[in-house]
Amino acid sequence: MTRGGFVAGAAAAAATTLSLPVRSRAGEEYSLWLLRQDTGESANEPFSLDGKTIYKPGYYELCVLLRDAHVDPSVGDVQISIRLVETLWAIQQYLGRAGIREPIIVHSGYRTPQTNAMIEGAAPHSLHMYGEACDFDVRGVDMEELANIAWACPSTGGVGYYPEGWVHVDAGSRRWWTG
Ligand SMILES: [Zn+2]
Repeated sequence: MTRGGFVAGAAAAAATTLSLPVRSRAGEEYSLWLLRQDTGESANEPFSLDGKTIYKPGYYELCVLLRDAHVDPSVGDVQISIRLVETLWAIQQYLGRAGIREPIIVHSGYRTPQTNAMIEGAAPHSLHMYGEACDFDVRGVDMEELANIAWACPSTGGVGYYPEGWVHVDAGSRRWWTG
């Protein structure tokens, strides 16, 4: 992904083909429910209506939720990796089947390089800077269990397990670490 702002990148999103599991009811099953830990904003938006193509209005709302809120929207709002969105959705679906209906609480989504540099312990080439990573937790779910659920989702790349309170997932290569 390039960091050109998500309006400029809209054509790339439109060209992306999804391959989500087919559901009996079209639409709402492809919604992702997110809550920002820092600002308290939430979004519960469909990023696809058919599991094959991106539904841009909903997808953009999710991108805004996952923005870097430390900077001006002209640089803080970017297209978030659709694979990352699918991964968060898959985790939420898994929890839903277990009877847990809670938003994914976003600690950190997209980060500008400046924001990333200010975070202690952040990797210098963090996938957060490409809109391909998210740190999160879910109310009432044990962190190790959450990391294991994330690992079990087919679209997941890396999983970082941080026992003190969050799980990192990204759309990079398949790898696991404990922070
Ligand atoms: Zn992270």
